[in-house]
Amino acid sequence: MTASTETFEFKTEVKQLLKLIVNSLYSNRDIFLRELISNASDAIDRLRFAAQTRPDLLGDDIGFRIRLIPDGIRQTLTIADNGIGMTREEVIENIGTIAQSGTAAFMEALDRAKAQADGLSPELIGQFGVGFYSAFMVADKVELVTRAAGGDTAVRWESHGDGTYRIEEASRPERGTTITLHLRKREKDEKDYTDPWVIRDIVKRHSDFIAYPVVMDVERIEPIPEAEQLKDKDGKPIGETTRKVVREETLNSMKAIWTRPKDEVTDEEHKQFYQHLTRDWKEPLERLHMKFEGATEYTALLYIPSRAPFDLFHPERRHGVHLYCKRVFIMEDCQDLLPEYFGFVRGVVDAPDLNLNVSREILQHDPLVRNIRRNLVKRLFEMLGKMEPATYETFYKEFGQMLKIGVHTDAENRSKVAELIRYPTTASDGELVPLKTYVERMKPDQKEIYYITGDNLDVLRHSPHLERLKEKGYEVLLMADPIDEWVVEALTEYDGKKMVSAEKGDLALDETEAVKAEDFDTLFAFLRTQLEDKVKEVRRSTHLKESVACLSGDARDMSAYMEKILKAAGQPMPEVKRILELNLEHPVVAGIKALYEKDRQDAALKDYARLLYDLAVVGEGGKLENPAWFSQKVGALMAGALASRN
Ligand code: ADP
Repeated sequence: MTASTETFEFKTEVKQLLKLIVNSLYSNRDIFLRELISNASDAIDRLRFAAQTRPDLLGDDIGFRIRLIPDGIRQTLTIADNGIGMTREEVIENIGTIAQSGTAAFMEALDRAKAQADGLSPELIGQFGVGFYSAFMVADKVELVTRAAGGDTAVRWESHGDGTYRIEEASRPERGTTITLHLRKREKDEKDYTDPWVIRDIVKRHSDFIAYPVVMDVERIEPIPEAEQLKDKDGKPIGETTRKVVREETLNSMKAIWTRPKDEVTDEEHKQFYQHLTRDWKEPLERLHMKFEGATEYTALLYIPSRAPFDLFHPERRHGVHLYCKRVFIMEDCQDLLPEYFGFVRGVVDAPDLNLNVSREILQHDPLVRNIRRNLVKRLFEMLGKMEPATYETFYKEFGQMLKIGVHTDAENRSKVAELIRYPTTASDGELVPLKTYVERMKPDQKEIYYITGDNLDVLRHSPHLERLKEKGYEVLLMADPIDEWVVEALTEYDGKKMVSAEKGDLALDETEAVKAEDFDTLFAFLRTQLEDKVKEVRRSTHLKESVACLSGDARDMSAYMEKILKAAGQPMPEVKRILELNLEHPVVAGIKALYEKDRQDAALKDYARLLYDLAVVGEGGKLENPAWFSQKVGALMAGALASRN
């Protein structure tokens, strides 16, 4: 290489990945080609998108294609595209690091893969966008020459997959990227990736739906046309009647299966197309293929994956629905076509009447796009509503969390989303219950829907706040997902019944009052002074049955869980004081009252006040300020109790 060559080190995570790729055994090495072709196709897509606002980027080179050039003698395979190319900085940025996925998520999945002892699976390669590096599964040296559209210099990148790569200036007559794989020595029964038959077969299997021609020069024996044949005087041919010619062959069918009539597309074709679209090796859970006809026509082919991708909630994920216009790709992940809470849906929408001059920014105001969005949302709700229970369960496990966002963000469809959400309840033993079922099961005298939020289902299930409700046989929804706080903020009622927090406010359960709350007023005032820095009020509980104390808030206060979530998110939070609720029928409360009335100066009262508070904290699974103090005090009390018995 020349003097201007610079050597770089790969980032640590790339090094690790490369090591894994080079050293592990793959069941399916063929996918390296799918990855590189798919990158080439993405590069053409991106060029065409950019050219909508900068047509000069295209020049006269508008025959978009991906060329494969096998060389059996040198044992190389070259993949060349006339896509957007890369600048020097982009090469360093994109090829030297792991794109998008974020190191943490990547390392995590890597560990998981290692734990499962199945090495790095093809799925993982696809999911993490480590696509390019899969070249090192088959090559011991990879060269990449690229020239960015609109630029006039090219760069050459080269690596042996050994921890470093080199970069230098180069030349390439046109924009685009050329990747040359110097293939590893083959073991006896390994495939020859320079064999046209092998290549043709892989492209057919893995890249058939790529929207641009994937071409390869193929040698063929063809008959020599009559007129060109040498003949003797009797008209008999002398010499060869056939000859070897090189012809360019298109290897993929570029089928746009969404444009075909619904019943003509086979399950197998759907499966392949879905895999092409998503790089997900599992089959989709459900699909929706529909043609809308009317004032304007368009087609949509949507899939619901059978599991959530690792980066579902990652802001930079590239999922969603691709937008086409008359089979021509317009953009990937067109976020205006579906609301955020349907972000797990994959597929394509082809809208022939789309105005191609609109920019990404104003697309969302385009009446056609809005119309499509409305219809897609409607059909998705219908489909989810009709799903088989077992299928729905799988779906909900994977995407329920995302769906719940809709309760908060989509006021128009709130009631529809509410029909789809499910919760475990105090009566359900772990199984998820739709709100509709909850309402059907409500007790005759029950007027409201009760829920409780927190981060641990088990703690919630046994929360002291639920004691009275359980006694009355009322079911309580157990909400243990952070997003649920936003769900209940937006969903104030369902089917005309108010959603009521079981931990906040007064439950207004009509009780026969065995004890009079007024009798406790002075004790409450005393306890409040004792616990001034912790609680804003001490009062009679409408929640408790067996436990002595619990903490609650006013109906409009933030829940303890919400406070925890916001704190964890680094939100500056004013200390919210809560309410200490006491079970007036509990002997401990009666005992403290008696002691207080006997001698208001008794030193033990101070400790009892603090213990009541600590018991309430422990009861909701909270953290004590001073656990050692609590433990010593309870120890001493137990000792006293035991002594009086023996
Ligand atoms: P992914 O394709 O999932 O992003 P890759 O490791 O395969 O991950 O590629 C990393 C990045 O390198 C791509 O996102 C793209 O920006 C760039 N890249 C790869 N191949 C090409 C190509 N043929 N033309 C232009 N850019 C490319």
